[in-house]
Amino acid sequence: MDIHVWDYLEEYSKERHDILDAVETVFQSGQLVLGRSVRGFEEEFAAYHGLPHCTGVDNGTNAVKLALQALGVGPGDEVVTVSNTAAPTVVAIDAVGAKPVFVDVRPEDYLMNVDQVADVITDRTRCLLPVHLYGQCVDMAPLRDLATRHGIAVLEDCAQAHGARHHGRLAGTMGDAAAFSFYPTKVLGAYGDGGAVVTPDEKVDAALRRLRYYGMAERYYVVETPGHNSRLDEVQAEILRRKLSRLDEYVDNRRAVARRYAEGLGDTDLVLPAVNEHNTHVYYVYVVRHPRRDAIMAELRKQGIALNISYPWPVHTMTGFAHLGYGTGSLPVTEDLAGQIFSLPMYPSLPTDLQDRVIDAVREVLAKVS
Ligand SMILES: *Cc1c(COP(=O)(O)O)cnc(C)c1O
Repeated sequence: MDIHVWDYLEEYSKERHDILDAVETVFQSGQLVLGRSVRGFEEEFAAYHGLPHCTGVDNGTNAVKLALQALGVGPGDEVVTVSNTAAPTVVAIDAVGAKPVFVDVRPEDYLMNVDQVADVITDRTRCLLPVHLYGQCVDMAPLRDLATRHGIAVLEDCAQAHGARHHGRLAGTMGDAAAFSFYPTKVLGAYGDGGAVVTPDEKVDAALRRLRYYGMAERYYVVETPGHNSRLDEVQAEILRRKLSRLDEYVDNRRAVARRYAEGLGDTDLVLPAVNEHNTHVYYVYVVRHPRRDAIMAELRKQGIALNISYPWPVHTMTGFAHLGYGTGSLPVTEDLAGQIFSLPMYPSLPTDLQDRVIDAVREVLAKVS
């Protein structure tokens, strides 16, 4: 039997009654778009974060895009982020007409090297966009200080960090706004696409509500600034409400999988994820590193173990972003990592016997390739 890098079917078989009841609830509600379930999910997701506002949107990319626009970022502005991220972070910056400006990541934890941010801030910088990559938060205090000093916004990309904590604070509560994705693989995943933006700022939230609804204040049918159609789907919202009540359990289960990997592989020369002090990692993906990555992956795949690379091509090296002018060698840590990292199977319902098969196979392959 093949081992998937991510799978939801085991979870679905356990939660099927609840998920189908969510679908039935919406179908019976008489309100198929922006009804009670979207409103309810927004309230519950905001409350989970101890924040006053949440706006549900159609996916994580548009969560980043609309949040940037709601924060006043537009053509000609610069947004500081990382190249070691999912491409959509950068696609969203491009989509609002702003220019992505990259800093490198740290070799220890693969997260934004906040020490480099001050050097790239110009009078066009409008926003700092840290990505809480793989399930662990970026060091936020220095970023907040810089943002305050320069009068610019902080937008957290939380697409991989639902429920993660930094100095005890939840990811998404440390900026002017935070964008979430509920793509099925994410730590809180829908049964399709979904996204949300949380914010402490009432004006930002009001702007988001217009932006996702053609640019209209709901019910007034007048476009002030043209927006988009980026509504969170009612069915996905109701499913997300059910799953939000189990988010902490999903996180605990992911952390248990990570612990078992650490116990089983801690004495090998595979570099396991480093967790920073003051961080609670939610392990959206379990990223390991080895200089002989390609040989190891090929062997493991032969044994029916699926693996991913997050991410094999740093965004700044993609042809679609060549115009930004970051040549090879401009972000050396990011480029180095891309050739060495890969992800082991990770999802909350990963059975322990399958996980042990992964551990045994990795140990055996490592002995062979080293
Ligand atoms: C998944 C992801 C996104 C995009 O989310 P979608 O819902 O797929 O549009 C953005 N940023 C990061 C870091 C992601 O992992």
